[in-house]
Amino acid sequence: MSARHEAGTATAHRVVVLGAGYAGLSAAIQLAARVKQREDVQVTLVNAQERFTERLRLHMTGTGQQLAELSIPELLEGTRAQFVRGWVTAVDADAKTVRIDDDRVLCYDTLVYGLGSVADTAAVPGAEEHAYTLNSTQDAEVLADRLARLGSGTVVVGGSGLTGVESAAEIAEQHPELNVVLLGRHGPGAAMNPRVRAYLQSALDRLGVEVRSGVEVAKILPAGVELEGGESVDADVVVWTSGTRVSPLAAAAGLSVDERGRVVTDVALRSVSHPEVYAVGDAVAVRQGYGDMHGTCQSGMPTGVHAAVSILRTLNGKEPRPFRFGYYHTPVSLGRNDAVVQFTRPDDSPRRIHLTGRMAARYKEAVTASPWPTWARMKKMPASGAFWPRGGRFTRVPEAR
Ligand SMILES: Cc1cc2nc3c(=O)[nH]c(=O)nc-3n(C[C@H](O)[C@H](O)[C@H](O)COP(=O)(O)OP(=O)(O)OC[C@H]3O[C@@H](n4cnc5c(N)ncnc54)[C@H](O)[C@@H]3O)c2cc1C
Repeated sequence: MSARHEAGTATAHRVVVLGAGYAGLSAAIQLAARVKQREDVQVTLVNAQERFTERLRLHMTGTGQQLAELSIPELLEGTRAQFVRGWVTAVDADAKTVRIDDDRVLCYDTLVYGLGSVADTAAVPGAEEHAYTLNSTQDAEVLADRLARLGSGTVVVGGSGLTGVESAAEIAEQHPELNVVLLGRHGPGAAMNPRVRAYLQSALDRLGVEVRSGVEVAKILPAGVELEGGESVDADVVVWTSGTRVSPLAAAAGLSVDERGRVVTDVALRSVSHPEVYAVGDAVAVRQGYGDMHGTCQSGMPTGVHAAVSILRTLNGKEPRPFRFGYYHTPVSLGRNDAVVQFTRPDDSPRRIHLTGRMAARYKEAVTASPWPTWARMKKMPASGAFWPRGGRFTRVPEAR
């Protein structure tokens, strides 16, 4: 039997935020801080776990390193926002309801959809059955347990994107007894400047990671992978990090989505089919002057803050402003004491300037640790969360003028 929950009082405007990742938490905290004194707005945040998942550190969890316990309900203390722990099983965008764990229903007036993404295990046959992932803390802990028990053998990391590079480096550093092979279509840091690419390669060499680029993984097998062309690479463990896949819930709800299932929005991050739904983080397809934004933490947090500010503007009878964001850096860890930081133009193309080595590792750690204190500060000073590079001429789209 299902229980129907009214979020807030009968007259309050009910804002329900789905997903307490980098983007959803930014939206919930920003909004809750700004409506602290208002009885007419009720914010409810729904997430699968009470503990915040530091996705940026899941390769650390995957190698057995313990992370801080970051409690989402504790973070919300001092605001009037409610926290609901549960798994969202359906959204009815016409009835404006959210079903949780199949037996609870939340009603909303405005929805913020921020359910993130996971590695695309559907892209290659066998990945779903045989590969380990860093999709959640639980998945990363399962990998950590397996690696700890291996003793010797080969770990293949599938996907030479930045998550693959970070994962291969972390596994090689934490488990020097294992052979680590990084397989991918492109060389590590393919979009970075040549000096950064060379540094990445030398750091992976130093850690003993065998890099095989220009290969296409055709199939994941119980004991290895098969490449296009038929070659097999034996492995005791395969970790799949390539591509991203979003939750099917948005499409099932009837929201307009792109070919990858991401919510299609207007320039203010409102669903083009259901304007009372905002989409944030990896779950949204955001178009900027330079093209489609790709999901990152650095862009995800601003989308959440922008959605919160836009909701308030709308409640105050104003039009929301267009969202604009320009990238500024790509930090990549190479184990615990090494990293590269590629500074970028707003369209994410690489500049010449970059950092490497210990200084880069300290920079990367500072960036990775920054969201939690940022939210704590935002609770007291919401405006402090509203600073990010808007991208100048790179992000001016004709509709936004
Ligand atoms: C190992 C690794 C390293 C990375 N490193 C970097 C980096 O250095 N820099 C960078 O910018 N990006 C990095 N990324 C990418 C970055 O983590 C994502 O872009 C970012 O997390 C997206 O934020 P989000 O809020 O959209 O989604 P998420 O952070 O994934 O949050 C989504 C939340 O929704 C919850 N959720 C999902 N579905 C449901 C459901 N049905 N019901 C209830 N709750 C649900 C999840 O549990 C989660 O809490 C990395 C990713 C990985 C895996």
